[in-house]
Amino acid sequence: MLPEVEKLLRVQHHDQRIAAIDKELAGIPILEEDVRDKFLEDEKKQNDARSDLQQTEIAIKNLELDIDTRKDSITKLKVQQYETKKNDEFTRMGEEITRYGEEITALEDKEIELMEQAEAQKAAYAKAKAEHEVSKEDVVSELEDLADLAENLKKEREEEVVKRQSHADPIDDDVLYNYERLFKGKAGHAIVGLVDDVCQGCHMKVVKSTYMEVKGEKQLTTCENCGRILYYWTDDSVGRDKGGY
Ligand SMILES: [Zn+2]
Repeated sequence: MLPEVEKLLRVQHHDQRIAAIDKELAGIPILEEDVRDKFLEDEKKQNDARSDLQQTEIAIKNLELDIDTRKDSITKLKVQQYETKKNDEFTRMGEEITRYGEEITALEDKEIELMEQAEAQKAAYAKAKAEHEVSKEDVVSELEDLADLAENLKKEREEEVVKRQSHADPIDDDVLYNYERLFKGKAGHAIVGLVDDVCQGCHMKVVKSTYMEVKGEKQLTTCENCGRILYYWTDDSVGRDKGGY
């Protein structure tokens, strides 16, 4: 194998790893956002449950006020009824007392209904609160894990850059420039194996002269179809990435 091919393959190996790390790093803020969204969602559930309960409690208080008002009216009417000497007034007041009494019964029925609703809402609020507590702990540990992951990836990236540089340094500038252009343009596959006479980058057969040149391993040869740098791949290269995808 040409020494330059060997070096380019090593550079490419590290560049691919760096690209994969960059992709993973770019995804971390999105994951962090998801974690925060989940937390905010649980927080909203808890707040909504609390607000539902509070509204029911206010409604119960209002019902109680309405009931008390009617009870007061009944008390007053009973006094007035006792004091009046007119029969028709007595009867009218009696009817009013009956009407208020009926209204009180209806309001009390409604109150019982709301109290049952409040019980269910109390349970829902307690559940939402407990879930929010768990979510609070989860969000902290998940964000910590993501921060650790980012830190490790950055460290690994730095190491990869150093290794890549050590292999890139001895390579001729023009060759390296061409390789880098191909790496960007060909989705991270600049140097690929030639298996039999098929380029593993574009999966096309190369012409005989190209095949002979690659097999001869005297100079760097590119695929006439896709422009990628080729190296002669044999069974001895087993374990080595053919460079294809
Ligand atoms: Zn090709």
